[in-house]
Amino acid sequence: MEETVKIPQKNIMGKIHSIETFGSVDGPGVRFVIFLQGCNMRCKYCHNPDTWKLEGAYKVKEQQWVRPEEKSADELLKQALRYKSYWGKEGGITVSGGEALLQIDFVLELFTKAKAMGIHTCLDTSANPYTTEEPFYSKWEALMKVCDLVMLDIKHIDAKAHKELTAQDNGNILQAAKDISDRGVCLWIRHVLVPGITTDAADLKRLREFIDTLKTVQRVEVLPYHTLGTFKWKELGIAYALEGVNPPSAEEVQLAREILGAK
Ligand code: SF4
Repeated sequence: MEETVKIPQKNIMGKIHSIETFGSVDGPGVRFVIFLQGCNMRCKYCHNPDTWKLEGAYKVKEQQWVRPEEKSADELLKQALRYKSYWGKEGGITVSGGEALLQIDFVLELFTKAKAMGIHTCLDTSANPYTTEEPFYSKWEALMKVCDLVMLDIKHIDAKAHKELTAQDNGNILQAAKDISDRGVCLWIRHVLVPGITTDAADLKRLREFIDTLKTVQRVEVLPYHTLGTFKWKELGIAYALEGVNPPSAEEVQLAREILGAK
Protein backbone atom coordinates (compact mmCIF):
# COMPACT_ATOMS: atom_id res chain seq x y z
CA MET A 1 0.00 0.00 0.00
CA GLU A 2 1.30 3.44 -0.86
CA GLU A 3 2.47 5.40 2.13
CA THR A 4 0.33 8.47 2.75
CA VAL A 5 1.97 11.81 3.44
CA LYS A 6 0.76 13.65 6.50
CA ILE A 7 -0.39 17.15 5.56
CA PRO A 8 1.47 19.71 7.66
CA GLN A 9 -0.99 21.96 9.53
CA LYS A 10 1.47 24.60 10.61
CA ASN A 11 0.30 27.35 8.26
CA ILE A 12 3.89 28.36 7.62
CA MET A 13 4.31 31.70 5.90
CA GLY A 14 6.41 31.69 2.72
CA LYS A 15 8.67 34.65 2.05
CA ILE A 16 7.72 35.60 -1.48
CA HIS A 17 9.81 37.46 -4.05
CA SER A 18 7.21 37.50 -6.82
CA ILE A 19 4.50 35.51 -8.57
CA GLU A 20 4.05 34.73 -12.26
CA THR A 21 0.46 33.73 -12.96
CA PHE A 22 1.00 32.49 -16.53
CA GLY A 23 4.50 30.99 -16.47
CA SER A 24 5.42 29.14 -19.66
CA VAL A 25 9.14 28.41 -19.15
CA ASP A 26 9.22 26.99 -15.63
CA GLY A 27 7.97 23.46 -16.18
CA PRO A 28 5.45 21.76 -18.46
CA GLY A 29 2.37 23.61 -19.70
CA VAL A 30 1.09 26.88 -18.27
CA ARG A 31 2.01 27.28 -14.62
CA PHE A 32 1.46 29.43 -11.55
CA VAL A 33 5.04 30.17 -10.53
CA ILE A 34 6.01 31.28 -7.03
CA PHE A 35 9.49 32.78 -6.67
CA LEU A 36 10.77 32.62 -3.09
CA GLN A 37 13.29 34.83 -1.32
CA GLY A 38 16.70 33.59 -0.24
CA CYS A 39 19.70 31.99 -1.94
CA ASN A 40 23.16 31.11 -0.65
CA MET A 41 24.67 30.61 -4.08
CA ARG A 42 26.42 33.59 -5.64
CA CYS A 43 26.29 32.71 -9.34
CA LYS A 44 28.25 35.29 -11.29
CA TYR A 45 25.48 35.45 -13.89
CA CYS A 46 22.53 35.62 -11.47
CA HIS A 47 19.82 37.83 -12.92
CA ASN A 48 17.92 37.98 -9.64
CA PRO A 49 20.42 39.09 -6.95
CA ASP A 50 17.45 40.81 -5.30
CA THR A 51 16.28 37.32 -4.22
CA TRP A 52 19.47 36.56 -2.27
CA LYS A 53 18.35 37.90 1.12
CA LEU A 54 15.86 35.64 2.87
CA GLU A 55 14.62 38.42 5.10
CA GLY A 56 14.68 41.30 2.64
CA ALA A 57 13.15 42.04 -0.73
CA TYR A 58 14.60 44.77 -2.93
CA LYS A 59 12.05 46.97 -4.64
CA VAL A 60 13.74 48.17 -7.81
CA LYS A 61 11.28 51.02 -8.45
CA GLU A 62 11.55 52.38 -4.92
CA GLN A 63 15.28 51.51 -4.72
CA GLN A 64 15.00 50.14 -1.21
CA TRP A 65 14.96 46.91 0.78
CA VAL A 66 11.68 46.00 2.45
CA ARG A 67 10.44 42.98 4.35
CA PRO A 68 9.38 40.33 1.81
CA GLU A 69 5.70 39.71 1.32
CA GLU A 70 4.56 36.66 3.27
CA LYS A 71 1.79 34.30 2.18
CA SER A 72 0.51 30.98 3.49
CA ALA A 73 0.14 27.85 1.36
CA ASP A 74 -3.65 28.16 1.60
CA GLU A 75 -3.58 31.75 0.35
CA LEU A 76 -1.32 30.87 -2.58
CA LEU A 77 -3.33 27.81 -3.57
CA LYS A 78 -6.55 29.84 -3.49
CA GLN A 79 -4.88 32.38 -5.77
CA ALA A 80 -3.38 29.68 -8.05
CA LEU A 81 -6.71 27.88 -8.51
CA ARG A 82 -8.16 30.97 -10.22
CA TYR A 83 -5.93 30.08 -13.17
CA LYS A 84 -6.56 26.33 -13.17
CA SER A 85 -8.64 26.41 -16.35
CA TYR A 86 -5.55 27.60 -18.28
CA TRP A 87 -3.28 24.78 -17.05
CA GLY A 88 -4.56 22.07 -19.37
CA LYS A 89 -3.30 18.54 -18.82
CA GLU A 90 0.32 19.45 -18.16
CA GLY A 91 0.30 22.67 -16.13
CA GLY A 92 0.21 23.29 -12.41
CA ILE A 93 2.36 25.12 -9.88
CA THR A 94 6.12 25.67 -9.77
CA VAL A 95 8.12 26.90 -6.82
CA SER A 96 11.32 28.64 -7.79
CA GLY A 97 13.62 31.28 -6.36
CA GLY A 98 16.08 32.38 -5.21
CA GLU A 99 16.52 28.91 -3.75
CA ALA A 100 13.20 27.35 -2.75
CA LEU A 101 14.79 24.68 -0.54
CA LEU A 102 15.86 27.36 1.95
CA GLN A 103 12.13 27.45 2.82
CA ILE A 104 11.63 23.69 2.69
CA ASP A 105 9.04 23.65 5.51
CA PHE A 106 6.86 26.04 3.54
CA VAL A 107 7.35 24.21 0.22
CA LEU A 108 6.51 20.89 1.89
CA GLU A 109 3.24 22.28 3.22
CA LEU A 110 2.39 23.92 -0.11
CA PHE A 111 3.12 20.81 -2.22
CA THR A 112 1.40 18.44 0.21
CA LYS A 113 -1.77 20.52 0.06
CA ALA A 114 -1.45 20.96 -3.71
CA LYS A 115 -1.11 17.21 -4.29
CA ALA A 116 -4.18 16.58 -2.13
CA MET A 117 -6.01 18.85 -4.64
CA GLY A 118 -4.60 16.94 -7.62
CA ILE A 119 -2.30 19.79 -8.72
CA HIS A 120 0.94 19.01 -10.60
CA THR A 121 3.91 20.22 -8.51
CA CYS A 122 7.31 21.27 -9.82
CA LEU A 123 10.37 22.37 -7.83
CA ASP A 124 12.91 24.58 -9.60
CA THR A 125 16.13 24.37 -7.57
CA SER A 126 19.91 24.49 -7.57
CA ALA A 127 19.78 21.98 -4.66
CA ASN A 128 22.46 23.93 -2.81
CA PRO A 129 20.84 23.35 0.63
CA TYR A 130 20.66 19.54 0.05
CA THR A 131 22.22 17.45 2.80
CA THR A 132 21.57 13.97 4.17
CA GLU A 133 21.82 15.41 7.66
CA GLU A 134 18.84 16.18 9.88
CA PRO A 135 16.63 18.09 10.23
CA PHE A 136 16.78 18.70 6.45
CA TYR A 137 16.75 15.11 5.17
CA SER A 138 13.42 13.96 6.67
CA LYS A 139 11.76 17.03 5.21
CA TRP A 140 13.41 16.35 1.85
CA GLU A 141 12.15 12.75 1.87
CA ALA A 142 8.62 13.95 2.59
CA LEU A 143 8.90 16.66 -0.09
CA MET A 144 9.98 14.19 -2.76
CA LYS A 145 6.78 12.20 -2.14
CA VAL A 146 4.66 15.21 -3.14
CA CYS A 147 6.87 16.57 -5.92
CA ASP A 148 6.05 15.52 -9.50
CA LEU A 149 9.04 17.13 -11.17
CA VAL A 150 12.36 18.63 -10.13
CA MET A 151 14.01 21.11 -12.49
CA LEU A 152 17.60 20.92 -11.31
CA ASP A 153 20.13 23.56 -12.32
CA ILE A 154 23.60 22.08 -12.62
CA LYS A 155 25.79 25.15 -12.86
CA HIS A 156 29.08 23.34 -13.57
CA ILE A 157 30.10 19.68 -13.51
CA ASP A 158 33.67 20.46 -12.44
CA ALA A 159 33.98 20.97 -8.67
CA LYS A 160 36.63 23.71 -8.83
CA ALA A 161 34.94 25.60 -11.66
CA HIS A 162 31.59 25.32 -9.86
CA LYS A 163 33.07 26.90 -6.76
CA GLU A 164 34.57 29.72 -8.82
CA LEU A 165 31.26 30.34 -10.60
CA THR A 166 28.88 30.07 -7.64
CA ALA A 167 31.03 30.30 -4.48
CA GLN A 168 29.56 26.94 -3.44
CA ASP A 169 30.50 23.24 -3.81
CA ASN A 170 28.70 20.95 -6.25
CA GLY A 171 29.24 17.60 -4.46
CA ASN A 172 25.94 17.75 -2.57
CA ILE A 173 24.14 19.01 -5.69
CA LEU A 174 25.23 15.99 -7.73
CA GLN A 175 24.29 13.80 -4.76
CA ALA A 176 20.83 15.41 -4.78
CA ALA A 177 20.46 14.58 -8.49
CA LYS A 178 21.18 10.91 -7.77
CA ASP A 179 18.82 10.95 -4.78
CA ILE A 180 15.96 12.38 -6.88
CA SER A 181 16.61 9.84 -9.62
CA ASP A 182 16.79 6.91 -7.17
CA ARG A 183 13.39 7.93 -5.78
CA GLY A 184 11.89 7.81 -9.27
CA VAL A 185 11.01 11.51 -9.31
CA CYS A 186 11.09 13.07 -12.79
CA LEU A 187 14.00 15.37 -13.55
CA TRP A 188 14.71 18.15 -15.98
CA ILE A 189 18.35 19.21 -15.97
CA ARG A 190 19.11 22.84 -16.78
CA HIS A 191 22.49 24.30 -17.62
CA VAL A 192 23.25 27.99 -18.14
CA LEU A 193 25.69 28.49 -21.00
CA VAL A 194 28.24 31.24 -20.34
CA PRO A 195 30.98 31.79 -22.96
CA GLY A 196 34.41 30.89 -21.59
CA ILE A 197 32.98 29.50 -18.34
CA THR A 198 30.49 26.72 -19.13
CA THR A 199 31.04 26.25 -22.87
CA ASP A 200 34.04 23.92 -22.73
CA ALA A 201 33.22 20.79 -24.79
CA ALA A 202 35.08 18.44 -22.42
CA ASP A 203 33.10 19.77 -19.42
CA LEU A 204 29.83 19.47 -21.35
CA LYS A 205 30.68 15.85 -22.20
CA ARG A 206 31.41 15.16 -18.52
CA LEU A 207 28.05 16.69 -17.65
CA ARG A 208 26.31 14.48 -20.22
CA GLU A 209 28.09 11.40 -18.81
CA PHE A 210 26.79 12.35 -15.37
CA ILE A 211 23.26 12.84 -16.71
CA ASP A 212 23.49 9.37 -18.28
CA THR A 213 23.89 7.88 -14.78
CA LEU A 214 20.47 9.28 -13.79
CA LYS A 215 17.35 7.22 -14.46
CA THR A 216 14.54 9.77 -14.51
CA VAL A 217 15.79 12.59 -16.72
CA GLN A 218 13.02 13.57 -19.14
CA ARG A 219 14.64 16.63 -20.61
CA VAL A 220 17.86 18.64 -20.69
CA GLU A 221 17.73 22.38 -21.30
CA VAL A 222 20.52 24.74 -22.29
CA LEU A 223 19.80 28.27 -21.12
CA PRO A 224 21.92 30.84 -22.95
CA TYR A 225 23.48 33.42 -20.61
CA HIS A 226 21.93 36.88 -20.92
CA THR A 227 22.62 40.26 -19.42
CA LEU A 228 19.03 41.39 -18.68
CA GLY A 229 19.58 41.33 -14.93
CA THR A 230 22.84 43.27 -14.77
CA PHE A 231 21.06 46.52 -13.96
CA LYS A 232 19.99 44.95 -10.64
CA TRP A 233 23.64 44.39 -9.64
CA LYS A 234 24.28 48.07 -10.30
CA GLU A 235 21.16 49.05 -8.32
CA LEU A 236 22.35 46.92 -5.41
CA GLY A 237 25.90 48.29 -5.60
CA ILE A 238 27.46 44.85 -6.25
CA ALA A 239 30.36 44.60 -8.71
CA TYR A 240 29.30 42.49 -11.69
CA ALA A 241 31.94 39.81 -12.28
CA LEU A 242 30.93 39.05 -15.88
CA GLU A 243 31.25 42.59 -17.16
CA GLY A 244 32.14 42.38 -20.86
CA VAL A 245 30.98 38.76 -21.28
CA ASN A 246 28.47 38.52 -24.12
CA PRO A 247 25.69 35.96 -24.58
CA PRO A 248 26.83 32.78 -26.38
CA SER A 249 26.72 32.65 -30.16
CA ALA A 250 24.13 30.52 -31.97
CA GLU A 251 26.96 28.07 -32.81
CA GLU A 252 28.00 27.74 -29.16
CA VAL A 253 24.40 27.12 -28.13
CA GLN A 254 23.93 24.57 -30.91
CA LEU A 255 27.12 22.69 -29.97
CA ALA A 256 26.18 22.59 -26.28
CA ARG A 257 22.69 21.35 -27.14
CA GLU A 258 24.15 18.60 -29.32
CA ILE A 259 26.61 17.44 -26.66
CA LEU A 260 24.02 17.52 -23.89
CA GLY A 261 21.22 16.09 -26.00
CA ALA A 262 19.21 19.16 -25.06
CA LYS A 263 16.13 20.85 -26.39
S1 SF4 B 1 21.07 29.75 -7.68
FE1 SF4 B 1 19.75 31.07 -8.92
S2 SF4 B 1 19.08 32.71 -7.52
FE2 SF4 B 1 20.83 31.69 -6.58
S3 SF4 B 1 22.60 32.94 -7.20
FE3 SF4 B 1 22.40 31.25 -8.66
S4 SF4 B 1 21.17 32.06 -10.34
FE4 SF4 B 1 20.90 33.45 -8.57
